[in-house]
Amino acid sequence: MKASQRAQAIEPSLIRALRDKASTTSLDLGLGQTDLPVSEHVLALLQERLSPPAYASYGPNLGLMSMREAVAKRYGITADEVLITCGVQQGLALAFLGLVDDGDEVLIPDPGFPAYANLVRAAGAIPVSYPLSEGTQDLDIALIRPLVSDKTCYILINSPSNPTGAVHEGKNMLAVLGELHDLGVNWISDEIYEDYVYDEEHVSPASDAALVSCGVRLSGLSKSHHMMGWRLGWLTGPASIIDALKPLHQHMVTSASTLIQDAGVASLAVHDEVVSQSLAVFRERRDVVYERLMKIEGVACEKPRGAFYLWVDVHRLFRAGEDSLTFALDLLEQEDVVVIPGQGFGSAGESFIRIAYTIDKSRLEEAMDRFHRFCQRRLAERA
Ligand code: PMP
Repeated sequence: MKASQRAQAIEPSLIRALRDKASTTSLDLGLGQTDLPVSEHVLALLQERLSPPAYASYGPNLGLMSMREAVAKRYGITADEVLITCGVQQGLALAFLGLVDDGDEVLIPDPGFPAYANLVRAAGAIPVSYPLSEGTQDLDIALIRPLVSDKTCYILINSPSNPTGAVHEGKNMLAVLGELHDLGVNWISDEIYEDYVYDEEHVSPASDAALVSCGVRLSGLSKSHHMMGWRLGWLTGPASIIDALKPLHQHMVTSASTLIQDAGVASLAVHDEVVSQSLAVFRERRDVVYERLMKIEGVACEKPRGAFYLWVDVHRLFRAGEDSLTFALDLLEQEDVVVIPGQGFGSAGESFIRIAYTIDKSRLEEAMDRFHRFCQRRLAERA
């Protein structure tokens, strides 16, 4: 017996690989999950609802109406434009399986979240990596247009971005997507970090009148409400597309967990309060790490405007023949600090590491002390 060629073509994520080598004492700047608690209000509701039989029966395939309405209210759309998923990860699988055909090409960002290329391949389509502008990591139509062929059907965008923390400048993003739409390319927007935007308002192509009918938005509660393991997200788009995706979603998962959807409704009721508290914590950490990095010779980094990652160019500290993986492994071995090698996010990540500021400030300071020491030793080797 053997696994299918489709399953064998899926590459395991380097994000997990490095984390798995770490110990319980490691300072973990690796896995992208927040360390803040789920709101008390939501936990209290869950405890109250846990008594059977309230959740013994299957829920509606597209999600509880209360949850769909809560998402619709947030975005100023209608519930028939919302489908509740088991996290954005399942939303991505649903979008690629449900929107692209065999042999279609899908533009995906490089660097970008590793699930994109793998899930496009699993759907029988072809991922085509598009570069981002140097430094700001923004969309640049001059870099993307040459990659469009008559098979290109979608572009995946992710702003704020994992791994770079970059936020696409709104006007330019809408113009790029508009121009691509004229070439027959629709959009899929992964907005899982939409609430972690530090210096401006988040812009979604779904809020643009000219673009709303030619794409789907994915988001969820994993990051904004610290509910990573509860697996709750959504896909929004034209009602006709939600209807078309329903049978596939039904056969895949039946529905997202009804208990967790109830927690989702409660979370969205306290959304602004939770998000503003989290944002203040993460903004402070971002500033601490960025300022520390600016004092380290040999590293370069743009100040990220979103998510909770820093994308740090460390290639000047590589030994001969080294790459971002061996660099990250050496850092783990010598200083017990986990970072993710940039190559895990595509070939454009080769010179970089990703730092997640998802531990408290004092441990973050300790991690930066260790990283600074490590970089100084690398520099001294050169002298
Ligand atoms: N997209 C991006 C860019 C992510 O970073 C992640 C999680 N790290 C996901 C999607 C998956 O999110 P979820 O937990 O909602 O499945």
